[in-house]
Amino acid sequence: MSVGQDIGRLGFRRWYEGQLVRSHVYLVAAFFGLIVLLSGIEMLDLTQRSPAYFLLVVIVAAAAGTGMLIGWRRFNVLLARAEQFAATAECPACKAWGKFSVLAAESESDDDPPEAGRPHWVRVHCSKCGADWNLG
Ligand SMILES: [Zn+2]
Repeated sequence: MSVGQDIGRLGFRRWYEGQLVRSHVYLVAAFFGLIVLLSGIEMLDLTQRSPAYFLLVVIVAAAAGTGMLIGWRRFNVLLARAEQFAATAECPACKAWGKFSVLAAESESDDDPPEAGRPHWVRVHCSKCGADWNLG
């Protein structure tokens, strides 16, 4: 489901809260990946273990490092977009925050990873005074 549809379905405040939670779940996953990566590096003991053990530790540590990078990147992108939308969620005419319906949004495809940060803008309509403006 697209971000514009999510905001329309949940309302901006609940969408914003969900984005904060989701981005911090990625942060926790990135931290867990960092711990596993560093543990894997610490476990590399070339003298006392078999080559299969060494290879297994390298593969697990590399996977954890990759997961850490993905989690860190998603944390930053989701949090930055949520904060950017929140900063522009105030109606320019009546100053109501987060009280709007979604008119349109930048197109996004199902293939877009969260790292793409799409949509970068969402066109909204104030529920109180009827003004239109863009989030983002
Ligand atoms: Zn307004």
